[in-house]
Amino acid sequence: LLSWGCVCSGFTERTREILSDHCRLCPFGCAAGLPSFGFLFDIDGVLVRGRTPIPAARAAFRKLVNPQGQFLVPVVFVTNAGDCLRQKKAEQLSHLLGISQDQVMMSHSPLRMFKRYHEKCVLVSGQGPLLDIAQDLGFCQPITIDTLREKRPLLDAVDHDRRPNVLVTVVLFGEPVRWETSLQLIIDVLLTSGYPGNPYGQESYPHLPVLACNMDLMWVAEAQSPRFGHGTFMVCLENIYKKITGKDLKYEALMGKPSRLTYQYAEHLIRAQALQRSWEQPIQTLYAVGDNVMTDVYGANLYNRYLQESSRSHPRARLPAKAAAGTAPALLAQHHQPAAARCSSVLVCTGVYDPHSEVALPSRDSIAQNVFHGHRDFSFDPALVEPDHIVPDVDAAVDLVFQLENFAPH
Ligand SMILES: [Mg+2]
Repeated sequence: LLSWGCVCSGFTERTREILSDHCRLCPFGCAAGLPSFGFLFDIDGVLVRGRTPIPAARAAFRKLVNPQGQFLVPVVFVTNAGDCLRQKKAEQLSHLLGISQDQVMMSHSPLRMFKRYHEKCVLVSGQGPLLDIAQDLGFCQPITIDTLREKRPLLDAVDHDRRPNVLVTVVLFGEPVRWETSLQLIIDVLLTSGYPGNPYGQESYPHLPVLACNMDLMWVAEAQSPRFGHGTFMVCLENIYKKITGKDLKYEALMGKPSRLTYQYAEHLIRAQALQRSWEQPIQTLYAVGDNVMTDVYGANLYNRYLQESSRSHPRARLPAKAAAGTAPALLAQHHQPAAARCSSVLVCTGVYDPHSEVALPSRDSIAQNVFHGHRDFSFDPALVEPDHIVPDVDAAVDLVFQLENFAPH
């Protein structure tokens, strides 16, 4: 019977109940067989360490797909990495499973929504194939710091033909290689309203819009001590700007975990997958599985708090009513209104978080007394660093979620 699929419409109520417990993909719309939840998997420290797959990831993935290799629930891979195209990240994971690039979310992925800047001339800062990344995201006229540096001697009154278009936006993708050059030229662009050949102007505040991806202060590589991340570069830029002008550098949008924008976009991708598979049951719960308390747990809990608050205050329209046109909240209101009821944080022990270390899980007090490594614009709340669940690895995370959701594949 099971091999015919769930032909539950032809059976009695009791038989349908029994069958729908076993059959996950009922062609007759038996809602009990459809997922009402989705996964947001972090990559580094959860699925791979460096280039090596974590063994539990293979076991977890076997449970997540049907014999045809299709996912049984919506899954998105959310990484704060940003120095490559998502296609490349999907290929890196292909030894685990055939993953489509539509399932991979990099820290810069939400920039796809900022269509109002796509036609404009934007200065891009970071490393890796920056122009390819920017163009893949939809930007038609990206200019790198290197290009600006090369063209700058021409930015005088002599050669107007070779003057680049006025820069209207700065996009910070990731930490660059020569910080002093990037810091200098970004400050030049901000203080001249996009005409870096001109003298600094008084009228340059509020400055050009700045969009920034990946706020991680530090990251862990092969070295014993953590390395400077893009968050450290941003600290430098913010402080130089403040020192010179006396004013705060303001961001049009911050993206990458733990920002809400990233989770909203991830939820949008989850819902798009469900729609594509004709899973009509609404996705109620998002499970965010990660290894970093300050990034994955904080971000998931922050988004959960947002979902709870917005469903209380705006049961239908979950976004702030006063979102100004063109701002990040308004863009999301337009295209990506959230619909999930909750976002649950699941911490694994295969990456940054080590349950055996002296300071296993930073307690509320210990973090409050120490220093907060989050971004300037994120207020610290100790309640946000406590995971809903701690499990040994991603395989245990999948088992736990299937159990919580009473979901029995195959
Ligand atoms: Mg990680």
